[in-house]
Amino acid sequence: MMQALYLTLVGIRVPSTRLYKDYPKPNVENTDPYREFQALSTKFRQNIPNSKKKVAIIGGGLSGLACAKYLAEAGHEPTVYEARGVLGGKVSAWQDEDGDWIETGLHIFFGAYPNMMNLFDELGIHDRLQWKVHKMIFAMQQLPGEFTTFDFIPGIPAPFNFGLAILLNQKMLTFSEKLQTAPPLLPMLIEGQSFIDAQDELSVTEFMRKYGMPERINEEVFIAMAKALDFIDPDKLSMTVVLTAMNRFLNEDNGLQMAFLDGNQPDRLCEPMKKSIEKNGGTVMVSSPVKEIVTNPDGSVAHLLMRSGDTVVADEYVSAMPVDIMRRFVPKSWSAMPFFRQLDELEGIPVINLHMWFDRKLAAVDHLCFSRSPLLSVYADMSVTCKEYHDEERSMLELVFAPCSPLAGGEVNWIAKTDEEIIDATMGELARLFPTEIAADEKWPSTKDQSPLGQARLRKYVVVKVPRSVYAAIPGRNKEVDPRQFEGEGKGQPKEEVVSA
Ligand SMILES: Cc1cc2nc3c(=O)[nH]c(=O)nc-3n(C[C@H](O)[C@H](O)[C@H](O)COP(=O)(O)OP(=O)(O)OC[C@H]3O[C@@H](n4cnc5c(N)ncnc54)[C@H](O)[C@@H]3O)c2cc1C
Repeated sequence: MMQALYLTLVGIRVPSTRLYKDYPKPNVENTDPYREFQALSTKFRQNIPNSKKKVAIIGGGLSGLACAKYLAEAGHEPTVYEARGVLGGKVSAWQDEDGDWIETGLHIFFGAYPNMMNLFDELGIHDRLQWKVHKMIFAMQQLPGEFTTFDFIPGIPAPFNFGLAILLNQKMLTFSEKLQTAPPLLPMLIEGQSFIDAQDELSVTEFMRKYGMPERINEEVFIAMAKALDFIDPDKLSMTVVLTAMNRFLNEDNGLQMAFLDGNQPDRLCEPMKKSIEKNGGTVMVSSPVKEIVTNPDGSVAHLLMRSGDTVVADEYVSAMPVDIMRRFVPKSWSAMPFFRQLDELEGIPVINLHMWFDRKLAAVDHLCFSRSPLLSVYADMSVTCKEYHDEERSMLELVFAPCSPLAGGEVNWIAKTDEEIIDATMGELARLFPTEIAADEKWPSTKDQSPLGQARLRKYVVVKVPRSVYAAIPGRNKEVDPRQFEGEGKGQPKEEVVSA
């Protein structure tokens, strides 16, 4: 300790000896969704068919890789064709010239992700999840620099642990606001999915008003929630999305407990998936963009035409591309089919992921924070939350900037702005959220009113724009498809159906 202090004083950086405060893996296995998924995945491995099928999978994001993993385990021969030089899609990441990892998105893993939890288990990489304390942390809008938390008391079962967390929080809602908020949500727990689906025609804001929830709950909770779930504002988001998430999270004791991956996603998550696929006879190809799905006169798939000019013939074809890319790939002979016409309604919305390196440590929170600022969704100090990005002396904030287009509820089309404009706007927000930390910096005009107390200066930033990310889950988009709608569509129906992720 004394030696470390001495070396620091004489200007030599000492390697960190600090231990992380990670929490033990919670019990995520004792839930029906986990057991269901486990049974399904075990069945794949047990019922190996006699005939091996060649399957071409377009897209090497998590869905394409997971599809290939399970097909390979089921005895088939999948090949993943990924357009980019890196796997992962929205969880892809790459290193810049300084060796810093740049991620497409800040990602969190919840206890209530049964498929993901099974996958981590099957790959033997559960220890790569850094579990954080079971609480949700919100920046206080009216009290800059302060946070408020919803604490989940260990040992209290769901959904009572959530109810208690809300009751114990004194800073966000008054007791009477809490009493007004609970009754409209009860049918979600009692009636379940039928009630949830029936709310799809309403936005979050419309639902709130219809059922007499206090207006302040929008400002206090729903704005943060809508932006975290779909990067859009609550007046644009279908209430079904919020209720589905709440229902899942609230029904599992550890559903809302969060984990960070302990390092970059390609190495720590995509690589073990690739290895598992290859071990079981599948193939994963990067820098292999598909140009076109070519059909036969009867509408079945003839082959994939690659951008290289090669063709790929398989027994089955799977699209694991984002929906709006798949929309452009729908062959002419399928475009009138109601099944594929549904894609017309799905529109990807933009989202921006920011990396901001500061010249010193901010008052770090070892967790995900909900910003509740008009421009930002969630953020985390990755120098604290993630082992690989650890820095004892300087903070690196990763922030999700949303909403960033009018479709998502924003007033400004941020995706068309320069990186400098986006960073300046974010610095203004950070200055407001952390008035005693962020320094006034002439490079960033939005910080000009900062008090001299603020000392932290931005030393480096990287802006990652995803112009078409998840689709906008606006009211009416989540309708369940009734298969009878497609009866009689046999003529011209592709034999090898292309299913979009
Ligand atoms: C900023 C951000 C934060 C997020 N945070 C979370 C979170 O915390 N928790 C969570 O659960 N989810 C989160 N998500 C959502 C999550 O990342 C996605 O749902 C998931 O990664 C989608 O995986 P996918 O495989 O379906 O699609 P994608 O990741 O989009 O993969 C599609 C792949 O298809 C490839 N492709 C496209 N066209 C072609 C072509 N012609 N030929 C070959 N390949 C092609 C693409 O290059 C891409 O690799 C977040 C998303 C973003 C953008």
